[in-house]
Amino acid sequence: MPEGDVVRRTARRLHAALAGRELVGCDLRWPDLATADLSGRCVLEVASAGKHLLTRLTAGEGGEPLTLHSHLRMEGSWYVERTGSDGRGRRSDAGVRAVLVTDTWTAVGHRLGMLDLVPTAAEGTLVGHLGPDVLGPGWDAAEAERRLLADPVRPVGEALLDQRVLAGVGTFYMAEACFLTGLSPWTPVGDVPAPGRLVALVHRLLHANAERTEQVTTGDLRRGRRTFVHARSGLPCLRCGTAVRVALIGPPAKERTAFSCPRCQSGPTPTDDGRPQAPLGARPRRRAPVRAADGSAKR
Ligand SMILES: [Zn+2]
Repeated sequence: MPEGDVVRRTARRLHAALAGRELVGCDLRWPDLATADLSGRCVLEVASAGKHLLTRLTAGEGGEPLTLHSHLRMEGSWYVERTGSDGRGRRSDAGVRAVLVTDTWTAVGHRLGMLDLVPTAAEGTLVGHLGPDVLGPGWDAAEAERRLLADPVRPVGEALLDQRVLAGVGTFYMAEACFLTGLSPWTPVGDVPAPGRLVALVHRLLHANAERTEQVTTGDLRRGRRTFVHARSGLPCLRCGTAVRVALIGPPAKERTAFSCPRCQSGPTPTDDGRPQAPLGARPRRRAPVRAADGSAKR
């Protein structure tokens, strides 16, 4: 899932391609926006706020400046191609949600998780709830720490994932930051010995990856060795060799995956019953047989 560093790179790429240019075409394939036409407006800038993308546009005739807001959620992306190129057939892809065309470059939003069009003056309704943006110019570490500690019994992993606490952190940086501080993601934030150091660590990890395409926390770019625990369930911890575990964290219906090493990371965990856990995707899930009305099992 794209986290703050990926979203920031996406914003930079879109900004480089679109800023200062007039839109000569626009296709928003989104229920409420299908009839919106942004042609004739200039792109002022493309910025990121946490995991949100803000494409700011000039006022149209008699209108007001608008912001096209998008969020990549689980698997969204924006790519840029030369206007007039065949787009390798991708523009007709059913996953395309937005097409912004300038005379030189065309930006295509694919499988976006959110798309909104609001007056720029009302951006706050979409991103005003966010905590300090880890990669933003106005990064405020003290405010981030204050928000992190607001609920002392909350599991630290859950608090780190809350965009109202820190904007830009997802499961990757949460898992790696908890590992590097030696704490289980289920440690109550009130028990984190040096919360300021944890906030600084998250900031450092995201910044280290903001300029490169690989997400790495180990300093080792080799495949399978880029993270200490994230996405390594069942594999040996890179530090101690114990099998890395994965479990869900967060409030019901909003659970996310948390990877951790039961040996290197102290503190509570709901999976410390000693059961081995298979790597995600290692075993195909068996489907329960579908029962027909008469109770017989269908194939
Ligand atoms: Zn370990």
